[in-house]
Amino acid sequence: MSTITNHMPTAELQALDAAHHLHPFSANGALGKEGARVITRAKGVYLTDSEGEEILDAMAGLWCVNVGYGRDELAEVAARQMRELPYYNTFFKTTHVPAIALAAKLAELAPGDLNHVFFAAGGSEANDTNIRLVRTYWAEKGHPNKNIIISRHNAYHGSSVGSASLGGMAGMHAQGGIPIPNIHHINQPNWWAEGGDMTPEEFGLARARELEEAILELGEDRVAAFIAEPVQGAGGVIVAPDTYWPEIQRICDKYDILLIADEVICGFGRTGNWFGSQTMNIRPHIMTIAKGLSSGYAPIGGSIVNDEIAEVIGGTEFNHGYTYSGHPVAAAVALENLRILEEEKIVEHVRDVAAPYLKQKWEALVDHPLVGEAKIVGMMASIALTPDKASRAKFASDPGTVGYICRDRCFANNLIMRHVGDRMIISPPLILTPADIDEMFVRIYKSLDEAQAEIIAQGLMKAAS
Ligand SMILES: *Cc1c(COP(=O)(O)O)cnc(C)c1O
Repeated sequence: MSTITNHMPTAELQALDAAHHLHPFSANGALGKEGARVITRAKGVYLTDSEGEEILDAMAGLWCVNVGYGRDELAEVAARQMRELPYYNTFFKTTHVPAIALAAKLAELAPGDLNHVFFAAGGSEANDTNIRLVRTYWAEKGHPNKNIIISRHNAYHGSSVGSASLGGMAGMHAQGGIPIPNIHHINQPNWWAEGGDMTPEEFGLARARELEEAILELGEDRVAAFIAEPVQGAGGVIVAPDTYWPEIQRICDKYDILLIADEVICGFGRTGNWFGSQTMNIRPHIMTIAKGLSSGYAPIGGSIVNDEIAEVIGGTEFNHGYTYSGHPVAAAVALENLRILEEEKIVEHVRDVAAPYLKQKWEALVDHPLVGEAKIVGMMASIALTPDKASRAKFASDPGTVGYICRDRCFANNLIMRHVGDRMIISPPLILTPADIDEMFVRIYKSLDEAQAEIIAQGLMKAAS
């Protein structure tokens, strides 16, 4: 049996990694020369690396470890399920208890008549399901040409061909021959970067009305659905102005199109409610789920659809499915994760304790010389870095240069905070305590001060007079 142990020197692990492991969303040549940080263990909100450094993980992995690291219950449920029934499919007139129990639990938790779950192994697969699902739905209702899905620039919906086409990441669309046909993108409600002279309220309305304009231009008989994240995550934790979502809901109600809420990040407590749709007060016909569904302990995602869609789709054979749809081990882990979230009142902890405290400290970041706006919803937050707050100025350097400097200072200070362009973002485990938040802010301020010094030294910002 060959096992990689933690006892190999870091340099040897890094050399093997560089020689054989291609990392996602990375320039692997440069990364191989620099050497990736090797994470060996984790507990609560802290990671440990191969050098024994303890790192505060303010990203909860990739927005997913909602209950924190090191929960034995989840490991035990996985082991028990592996012994009992490690795998079976649900394709050919069969089912199994973990998939049944998880689907029923999700129907109970999801708002309104979102009562039916199609499982996948992650968010990308689930959004690919959604593309085929909404088009099949309209075809079954006699509208095969109602097949255009409207999404937003700078949205993130996954990395498969279908889901990346739905997404609006320019860098992704530049590679590999996407988007697929009949996906249309409107602009995002990012006031800081794109709001110009409008107030946030005016801008929110204007950006929402782009949906109506697109529907009228493309034709109501052509548009199948609109997909959006309640709060854009990977795009930089972009929180729409208050006027945006009510107008989007009005437009979706007026024209006969389906609303898909991509809840992959916002779901399972992240925004202080079970789902981001509840926080934004919208009524989706379909929700995409993954990430926090299992707190990242097992790969699982899915699409939750309403009664009417389930009934229409049920009228035909839907020729779609994944080997690991409803995987019994992943489903059992997800179910146990939901039990922990519910019984330990973690969503309430976010709403009543962690998020209010985090908000107060986060919004005070605008007093730092490097910080323009500070946005926060529940336990996801962002700051825009700027050389001049008053004019919402961008840095003279290529977008992302300053964010990268800041991210590196965080990394050096044992804090995982990500940059998206020149925005810094966090999405910490939901179990964060006020004491953890205090410690996090010690590291944030140290990192911002160091980044500011470096940015001034590089001539990208004036020193305070
Ligand atoms: C991460 C993410 C996805 C993709 O999920 P994977 O599990 O990585 O395939 C989809 N939508 C949103 C909003 C995400 O943040």
